[in-house]
Amino acid sequence: MAKKRTRKKRSHIHLLYDMNELTNLLVGTLTVDDFLKQAAEMVARHLDAHVCSIYLYDESSDELYLAATTGLDPEAVGQVRMKVGDGIVGHCVDRLKPVCEGVAEKSPYFKYFRAAREDRFKSFLVVPIHRGPVRIGALVVQHEEPDMFDESDIMGLLAASSQLGTSIENARMIMEMNRSADGVPEVRPIPPGTMIRAGIASEGYAYAPATVLRKGGPLHPLEPSPDDEFLTLEDFHRAMEATFEQLQALQSGFARRLPESASLIFATHFMMLKDDSFAGQMVRLMKDGMPPMQALRQVSSHYTALLLSSPHEYIREKVNDIEDLSVRIMRNLRKAGQGEAASGQKRIVMAEQLYPSDILKLVADDVQGIVLAGGGTTAHVSILSKSLQIPLLMTDRRDLLLLPEDTPVLMDAYMGAIYVDPPQKIVKRFREREKTRSIALQRSAGVADETATRDGARVRLMANVNLLSEIPLARKLKAEGVGLYRTEFPFLIRTAFPSEAEQLPIYRRLFEEMKGRPVTIRTLDVGGEKVLPYLDAPPEPNPELGLRSIRFTLSHRDIFTTQIRAILRAAAGARDARIMFPMISSLDEFLEARQVVFSAMEELSEEKLDFCDRPSIGMMVELPSLVDIMDELADVADFFAIGTNDFVQYMLAVDRTNHRVSQYYASHHPAVLRGLDRIVRAADRKGKEVSICGEMAHEKAHLPFLLGIGIRLFSVNPQFLPQLQESISRISLSEAREYADALLSRSSLKRIQEIMADRKWKERFGL
Ligand code: PEP
Ligand code: MG
Repeated sequence: MAKKRTRKKRSHIHLLYDMNELTNLLVGTLTVDDFLKQAAEMVARHLDAHVCSIYLYDESSDELYLAATTGLDPEAVGQVRMKVGDGIVGHCVDRLKPVCEGVAEKSPYFKYFRAAREDRFKSFLVVPIHRGPVRIGALVVQHEEPDMFDESDIMGLLAASSQLGTSIENARMIMEMNRSADGVPEVRPIPPGTMIRAGIASEGYAYAPATVLRKGGPLHPLEPSPDDEFLTLEDFHRAMEATFEQLQALQSGFARRLPESASLIFATHFMMLKDDSFAGQMVRLMKDGMPPMQALRQVSSHYTALLLSSPHEYIREKVNDIEDLSVRIMRNLRKAGQGEAASGQKRIVMAEQLYPSDILKLVADDVQGIVLAGGGTTAHVSILSKSLQIPLLMTDRRDLLLLPEDTPVLMDAYMGAIYVDPPQKIVKRFREREKTRSIALQRSAGVADETATRDGARVRLMANVNLLSEIPLARKLKAEGVGLYRTEFPFLIRTAFPSEAEQLPIYRRLFEEMKGRPVTIRTLDVGGEKVLPYLDAPPEPNPELGLRSIRFTLSHRDIFTTQIRAILRAAAGARDARIMFPMISSLDEFLEARQVVFSAMEELSEEKLDFCDRPSIGMMVELPSLVDIMDELADVADFFAIGTNDFVQYMLAVDRTNHRVSQYYASHHPAVLRGLDRIVRAADRKGKEVSICGEMAHEKAHLPFLLGIGIRLFSVNPQFLPQLQESISRISLSEAREYADALLSRSSLKRIQEIMADRKWKERFGL
């Protein structure tokens, strides 16, 4: 239909410019309501729209509510609510895609909301506001005339929504926190001594003062203190020196724990400390008479606003660095004022959401434990926290995000409990328990070189390695090789794809340190919820079913080839180098990926570079689609590694990171057990090695079954090796076979559970 456009066209560049100004204002003076209202007015003005409304997403009810409007009845603010998926706005947020309707009522998604009284507005354009897959809300413009918005308006509004996204997210958070003050719904402070149950993502124990991490939020709210006004310029200089020394000490300690990334973590910090427009500007303000704390806040806020207004996510992420640095200086400034030396910050962090790169920074900061409250987690966050041995708990209790700074918190991430300001007798009991546990651990660390069942069947144990710093432990605990090296981390912690030259020394070190033993390197397994911050890929409605893992690398050949070349070069001279592809879904996909390895070998040979010309090439078995084609796959693949984490997720359609559906994540489901059995039998038939490397591999309850169906190679996080070896030595293979047959003959979860809980079996297997 021809568009009856009567309004004059405006350049949307002006809109972006104004948005930038507005974001700066939010950091400075505006209240949240004013900010949202002004943003709506600005967008309406620029798009010559009669209405502009901002909807925010309320996670607790999975609803969108009208948070600000110009053009609709102001009374409707807070009143109009809809489920995600409901109406045009709900549909847009559900799919994370813009919707543009010439006549709203004719849209198949149209739904009338009485409170909005919007029937006279015909043209309707809505774009989602989101950060990656995280929903924030929607931005809507309406006009009385039909067909008023076109492609350029969609682009303009999308750009505005991405510009406003972070600020609106901050605004939403502040609104949620303020809701307690307004009385709806009331969030009461958590009384001392409260115990909160939580899901365990990484085991451990921690007792430390809490600090709440508000990603990209307003500058960390260190409570103003009356003593701040006595601070001097000299105190500031001492604080800067102390900060510099602290960062240097952290950096060198960190280099031991995370050689992959040590130089990257504090790059921004060091740069800012030296930067004249940061530290220098603070000094100038102080010389003009501004108190040090205020000068520090002012300059940091200015930088925060500047970074937040960047269209690039990886630049906006730098806000965390500025905040971290500023808080460090502030703490040191107070200490300098009191004549104290700076000290490290052993803390428990409460956060709504974290990326793997955040975990690295927290480790650098000597964080003792992490509680994720209300948000989700990603598989890589929990894998990384396990590798770094930082306890990580997950809970729905968002009120933990309101805990006053420095509230003592005890995390029992063995049992899944958080104690807020616990009485001393509880703390004492935990300390004693922890001491006993570590003594027992030291005793059990006397591992034998080889592992066998009670009746003498040889079983091989290898290590899953995520970080190079885990290799010494793997060797000490006699890992017979690396069954899975996850290559994601060097990719996740950088601000751009690592080059061949950057990847090479990392993989080389792995081969050198495990010399003579098999080393299995898995190619990049990102995409889905394993997000690379610098990859400006459009959000996917179903990331777990999207362009992830091998699909991602096959469609980004340059990245894939770069990695394969680095692996092949690093493996030059290695005795048993293995390349493994994740998330393979078909025979064709495996052959296509393998061809990339062959082509890289040809290239390297033409370039006369040293490389491994006979790597074993295998695959992860993570998708149920492989079960039926295992025989054919075994004709071409050199080996298989079963990734039960994803196998269970895809077999049962249960998001492995969503603890709201964790009761459906049943590794003992008959389809899972029978699938595993068929995979192992097919591999055995063709004489191909099959290992297991998902979490199931170290779970005691599953061990007799896995041995019973024929698994003889387990790959687990190094810390599980001693316990796994001991458990295997108590199991007789003939009994394990009998037990596996019993489980495979049952089709109901309940019956399988009954057998697993049967005392007879438990006693036989020492469970
Ligand atoms: C798995 O899926 O079991 C696996 C080992 O891979 P990841 O946990 O890295 O997805
Ligand atoms: Mg997997």
